[in-house]
Amino acid sequence: EIRVRFAPSPTGELHLGGLRTALYNYLFARNHGGKFIVRIEDTDRTRLVEGSAQRIRSILSHYGLRSDEDPWQGGSAGPYTQSERLPIYAEHAERLIDSRHAYRCFCSSKRLDLLRKNAAREGSIPLYDRRCRSISTEEARSRAKNGEEHVIRFVMDHQDVGFEDSVFGSITQRVEESDPVLLKSDGYPTYHLANIVDDKTMRISDVIRGMEWLSSTGKHVLLYKAFGWSSPRFVHLPLITRDGKKKLSKRDKDAFVDYYDKEMGVLPQAVINFLVRNGSGVRDFDQSKLYTLQELIEQFDVQLIGRRNFQLDGDSLSQYGNAAFRSASDQELINLIRQRVESHLPSTSVDLSDEYLKRVIEFLRVKEETFAFLSQLTKGQYTFFFTCPKSSENVLSKFSSDVAIQALDRIMESGSWQIDSLKGVAKSLDMAYPKLLSLLRLSLIDGTSGPPITELRDFFGESECTERIRKMRE
Ligand code: GLU
Repeated sequence: EIRVRFAPSPTGELHLGGLRTALYNYLFARNHGGKFIVRIEDTDRTRLVEGSAQRIRSILSHYGLRSDEDPWQGGSAGPYTQSERLPIYAEHAERLIDSRHAYRCFCSSKRLDLLRKNAAREGSIPLYDRRCRSISTEEARSRAKNGEEHVIRFVMDHQDVGFEDSVFGSITQRVEESDPVLLKSDGYPTYHLANIVDDKTMRISDVIRGMEWLSSTGKHVLLYKAFGWSSPRFVHLPLITRDGKKKLSKRDKDAFVDYYDKEMGVLPQAVINFLVRNGSGVRDFDQSKLYTLQELIEQFDVQLIGRRNFQLDGDSLSQYGNAAFRSASDQELINLIRQRVESHLPSTSVDLSDEYLKRVIEFLRVKEETFAFLSQLTKGQYTFFFTCPKSSENVLSKFSSDVAIQALDRIMESGSWQIDSLKGVAKSLDMAYPKLLSLLRLSLIDGTSGPPITELRDFFGESECTERIRKMRE
């Protein structure tokens, strides 16, 4: 049975590479009629960020990557959060002690520090000197029983380890670390132990993950052997880079999934096509086409994933972004906009009904061909659909206020937004007509540029326009 997992650490916002890993796992599982599992790897307690696992969960659902087993719905191989599996790791570490593949180490942190310092002084790699390997199992057991603090280390001699990777082919790795820690003194496992015990006990058939884990794989293969288990198949995905060389850094805004969704307003389907186009893995891939998730599933082939580094190519992102915006249904856009407005502009007094949002979309579809408007609805030039200009001071300070106030008063009185009557107002006050129009734009939408006044009038209606001015003057 094909079972794959996405195993993020909840240490902050999800990286674009994380979404790509999840996507490839998902496509692979669905293509084979297998299971897609989400496991939260939270054993590094110092790096935990609260709320991060929940955020990952909502991102996966936003992108349509539905999992079959995970911490929230459970499943036959749970629990799916590592911190809830400590007894499983302890039991497995004991097993390795019994088979002499692991041993208890009582060295103090002071001693380890000293080893490190000495190594640094000699300019060599700090390696544990394996002193506790020679303690007999019986002695070690009784010292542990007496409560002496210790870790459990893996017996790992320097050697070459070979394994196959679906993307990178046959690999031989020289393992040089010296007896790495498997279980820490507080009972938490290190990443390596937890990762392979979970992959085995969750019956994972294929490990698909970012290439940054390739260098750990040799060690993992040795652990599988020590347990007497066969390894899963490995698929390591190439790095995500800006230009084909440099890895994206955590300082780059566009390294995070949130940026595409929240800042740019790119629809999920566009981001998914963008990721696949760059990483490949799809049979007969047509770059000009916007694929649905279902089509990608059907044409997915892991053998086609390239070794070339993934490049963030802004042009292809815009191209997919626009295509997805144009092909999205009204209802999809309505839901998306409502969600965004509710989370970004919670104090809006506008009724976010389907009808209203549909009119907003129609207005924009006519004006805009790009997806970028989505982000502008909540922070750029289109927020006026959901907010009113707040104070008249800002507006009037830009005009010689006497005339401006009189102009606004006259328009409020007449309630007419027809061109003739607006022109009449301007003339009666000896005000240039374009100047009146900028005054009105500022009053209606708090902006110096934007749609023509006639379009705003037709969208809001005369009485709502008048009402906006009245509210602003209050
Ligand atoms: N917890 C690791 C990460 O955050 C998972 C590595 C793996 O998939 O084996 O990327």
